[in-house]
Amino acid sequence: MARYYADEICATLALLDCDVHSFQPTMGDDGYGEFQAACFRSLLSSTAVDLRQSPALFDAVTGHYLYEPDVSGLCPDCGGSAGGNICEECGAPNLCHDLGAARSRQSAEAPLVGSVRRPELALDRCYDNIDRHLRASGVPLRILDLFARLRRRGNFSVPITHPSDWGLPAEGFPGQVIWVWPEMAFGFLYNIQALGRLLGRDWKAEMPGNDWQIVHFFGFDNSFYHALLYPALYAEVFSHWTPRI
Ligand SMILES: [Zn+2]
Repeated sequence: MARYYADEICATLALLDCDVHSFQPTMGDDGYGEFQAACFRSLLSSTAVDLRQSPALFDAVTGHYLYEPDVSGLCPDCGGSAGGNICEECGAPNLCHDLGAARSRQSAEAPLVGSVRRPELALDRCYDNIDRHLRASGVPLRILDLFARLRRRGNFSVPITHPSDWGLPAEGFPGQVIWVWPEMAFGFLYNIQALGRLLGRDWKAEMPGNDWQIVHFFGFDNSFYHALLYPALYAEVFSHWTPRI
């Protein structure tokens, strides 16, 4: 499916006369997996990441772990309809087990709350780094408001792995994969390195430069990931780097 849609996306962009300088298929690229594993190990040793046995949501019939599109419910922040992990209306993150009236996509039964041991990023320990980044990057007011709402929630930790067979295996956590959003954050750096190779520039994913500027184009529902989570992750792994995003 990924290969099919990758080709479709490239074909569509070509029909629009959009030149793409670097399109990075990650499947079958050993260097990509090794870079992600190195970033993951670095995160595990960071002072903002703890191993925690914490609440998680499971389908009452199949017993499957529920997150992302497999669960929906009411946003713990705005009370509107939200998907697993993010509210597309107000942009607030959720932990799935904190959704009101949660519904599984796998069965009609109400999901059950259990627990899973996962490495979690304590975002509240990253707020100073995020704040510095937002001020330096000049983000829209709506994202500053999202950050203010997040801070008001106090202690807030997000798991960076999930039980799944979809994604890169998380070393040391059998049956779990690296959450797709941290993978994407580090994937951008890998792609910058690949772009540099095409341009004859010595850009290194593991040594991001202070002269880099990353410009994302995304809908507001992705704000938490791109504008708040990524700078927090980057600060833990690349302490020398002041990202401009
Ligand atoms: Zn919401």
